[in-house]
Amino acid sequence: MTVSIALFTQDLRLHDNPVLHAARTAADQVVPLFVLDPAVADAGFAAPNRQAFLADCLADLDASLRRIGSRLTVRGGEPAEQAARVAAEAGAATVHVASGVSAFARRREERLRTLFGDRLHVHDASLTVVPAGRIVPAGRDHYAVFTPYFRAWQQAPRRTVLRAPRALDTPAGIGGETPALAGPCSPALPPGGESAGRRRWRRWDVAPYDGVRDDLAADATSRLSPYLHFGCLSPTELVERALRHDGEGARAFVRQLAWRDFHHQVLAARPDAAHRDYRPRDDHWHRDGREAEAWRQGRTGYPVVDAGMRQLAEEGWMHNRARLLTAGFLAKNLYLDWRIGAAHFLSLLVDGDVADNQLNWQWVAGTGTDTRPNRVPNPLRQADRYDPDGAYVRRWVPELAHLPGRSVHRPWLVDADYPPPLIAPDALAERFRRARGLD
Ligand code: FAD
Repeated sequence: MTVSIALFTQDLRLHDNPVLHAARTAADQVVPLFVLDPAVADAGFAAPNRQAFLADCLADLDASLRRIGSRLTVRGGEPAEQAARVAAEAGAATVHVASGVSAFARRREERLRTLFGDRLHVHDASLTVVPAGRIVPAGRDHYAVFTPYFRAWQQAPRRTVLRAPRALDTPAGIGGETPALAGPCSPALPPGGESAGRRRWRRWDVAPYDGVRDDLAADATSRLSPYLHFGCLSPTELVERALRHDGEGARAFVRQLAWRDFHHQVLAARPDAAHRDYRPRDDHWHRDGREAEAWRQGRTGYPVVDAGMRQLAEEGWMHNRARLLTAGFLAKNLYLDWRIGAAHFLSLLVDGDVADNQLNWQWVAGTGTDTRPNRVPNPLRQADRYDPDGAYVRRWVPELAHLPGRSVHRPWLVDADYPPPLIAPDALAERFRRARGLD
């Protein structure tokens, strides 16, 4: 009887899982293993919202595995060491794991390689549709601009979608323990797990997506990001299914999934872009702890910014347009270091992801891959455009709910009881333009 280990990481699903598929093909029996690494918490990355979501994911994965005759073994500790222990207990010959792009995932893979040598099998195209580094421009190790990347991405071959196993034989007597996971978290978090993710996906209609995705109040985007972050859903399966619909909505949705791949291939090539400016602009960021705190609390005096920040606190999630608006306000209007904002987002976002968060923040701050790094967004113009009736603001800022229409975006004009704007509406571009020498 041969045994293999399927080491789950950010691929917490049975459907279209190359790691599980390969582990099953390689041996008669498979140990599905997940290791909770305390180093994630030590690095400050184990935010309570993501921990709570992860607990749901693990419970759901275990339940799904039990339905097909298996179960999930969960251990705490250094992943390679724990995998080696389980391999010794189960007599496993091979270990299968998905490749990752973060510095953390790379270190895990190196440690696994040291302990298992050529008994380790690393599978790509699990985390992303096109593996990082698979497509590169001539003479470079990654694409730095999205449009040419997307052109190449569309032409790149995609692997076949894999079915979920109907049965899985697992050796008896491999024990585990589930360390405590959740702390105090946001009150309206989505439920985690593959089952919840597939349910959400089935119920969501991609057809109108292109027309409504920027409408803050419509809230009509997929909300699949946490399920993608934890791998409860496979991006390859989402793309293949979306492309069966021949419409603008499906095309726009697939393009967003390509943005996700784009950021992953940038981070794979430049792991330090998680913390350092991808394109340094000699910024000497304004420092003001009071302003940063008002932004975190959703009390900047700009209701549309405050609405986004309050949605983040309540749901552990924020609409993409609101992310752009709130991040732009911090990095461009207040001209505070983007890392302050990125850290706050990561402390709350249930989809908080090193590649997508840090590189989107850098894009907004003009230190990343934006080809127009010096544009300065205006939160009032954006509020009028993306929340034209003010419904998004009234939903999240109850103290202004009595104000009609778009008057809710400028409470200072109607003498409402609301914090005054942190920065005057006619000075929104001043700090940034002066600091970057644009005036
Ligand atoms: P949809 O509009 O339905 O899009 C479908 C999927 O495409 C998303 O689930 C996501 O996986 C991907 N996607 C969409 N837009 C982007 C993008 N700009 N970059 C990368 N992938 C994208 N996304 C995260 O998953 N994790 C983060 O930590 C994160 N931080 C962000 C920080 C800032 C400052 C900004 C501006 C954006 C950030 N995003 C992040 C990207 C984007 O805002 C979210 O992916 C999106 O809002 C999730 O909602 P949705 O699933 O309804 O998206």
